Amino acid sequence: MALVVQKFGGTSVGSVERIRNVAKRVAKTYDAGNDVIVVVSAMSGETNKLVALANEVTEFPDTREYDVLVSSGEQVTVALLAMCLKSMGYKAKSYIGHQISILTDSSFSKARIKKINDKKIRQDLNDRTIIIAAGFQGVDGDGNITTLGRGGSDTSGVALAAALKADVCEIFTDVDGVYTTDPNICETARKIDRISYDEMLELASLGAKVLQIRSVQFAKKFNVDVHVRSSFNDNPGTLVTKEDKEMESILVSGITYAKDETKIAVMRVPDKPGIAAKILSPLSAANISVDMILQNVSEDGFTDFTFTVTKADFKKALMITKEAAAEIHARDVLTDDNISKVSVVGLGMRSHAGVATRMFETLAKEGINIQMISTSEIKVSVVIDAKYTELAVRVLHDEFELSGKEVTVER
Ligand code: ADP
Ligand code: ASP
Ligand code: MG
Repeated sequence: MALVVQKFGGTSVGSVERIRNVAKRVAKTYDAGNDVIVVVSAMSGETNKLVALANEVTEFPDTREYDVLVSSGEQVTVALLAMCLKSMGYKAKSYIGHQISILTDSSFSKARIKKINDKKIRQDLNDRTIIIAAGFQGVDGDGNITTLGRGGSDTSGVALAAALKADVCEIFTDVDGVYTTDPNICETARKIDRISYDEMLELASLGAKVLQIRSVQFAKKFNVDVHVRSSFNDNPGTLVTKEDKEMESILVSGITYAKDETKIAVMRVPDKPGIAAKILSPLSAANISVDMILQNVSEDGFTDFTFTVTKADFKKALMITKEAAAEIHARDVLTDDNISKVSVVGLGMRSHAGVATRMFETLAKEGINIQMISTSEIKVSVVIDAKYTELAVRVLHDEFELSGKEVTVER
């Protein structure tokens, strides 16, 4: 008998019919003799609707109330799934974040899980009850409802698997696993059978939204093997696991894109020590992460300072940046939300130069202009005009021969 955690994403619980299918799958796992903890997202589209409502009410929704609102989508699905299982004759019980409890810090809308109290869950499991836990949410030390950031149910699933030392952690979604790029925009995308935590971390942080980045961090930290698979069939999916020798021989494992960032450019700032800190410190004080950063070559003692933030943080970031810009007597603050970040990711890049050059040449051949560049040991990212996103992804996928056999590195 094993303890199995199964997380189902929004599309998988997108209708009553689909919730019934999820119930059948859960029942099958349970009937095989396993203990089962199910984590569910809100029905697809519901969280977006709630976010839109908040933005309709006010330009800067209070973050505490925002979390009370957006966490409600998951309350609906846990109840529906539990009802469904009960009507099928199973012992099942729904729980929302604070009832379990999933303790987080107080960073509303991007809270981090600190501790999971497994007492109630253990009691129920001992009684052979199926646990249905709401994803995406927790409770802070003062009893406030918190949420874990968009896509956060993946993190709830992996965190519960880690806390309860589950034998199996399955993330069910609407594609067959983790692919070499988003299968919904590139027909030749290939499913990856096994991928290391580090590579998955890069893919996730660069836009492959199939797993939320925090879920992969949890998996790595607590050594949870995560099986990403489809809720619509029984095909084997992708195992996210510890790195092994074979994985390292792959030069490039995936191409990602992210359209959720906006560029902010502070024009004509004095090029002297401390300017970058003056612009960026108030942003980090407001818990806003800056992603790409570009500082131009100085001309007559002045330069332009450009960076990107997520669209979710944009309005607040712009307000803060304008204040900082006025203080340092910058000429202007310009913004562009028509951008996208395209990245090439692979462990093999550690030991092999030339990936960046091949990437830039491939984009140049298509006449795609590169606006910003950033690199790490195992990725190269560029910011381009959003209208070229799909094209860039496809030509890079071809260039690195991802649809066929993996490009391996000679050793
Ligand atoms: P869920 O609602 O199940 O959490 P998400 O929409 O969050 O599902 O994530 C699944 C989606 O991630 C897929 O439908 C796909 O469009 C997208 N995606 C982006 N990059 C990748 C990738 N490399 N592999 C698989 N899916 C990807
Ligand atoms: N419902 C939340 C979202 O749409 C959490 C999740 O689906 O993982 O972001
Ligand atoms: Mg998701």
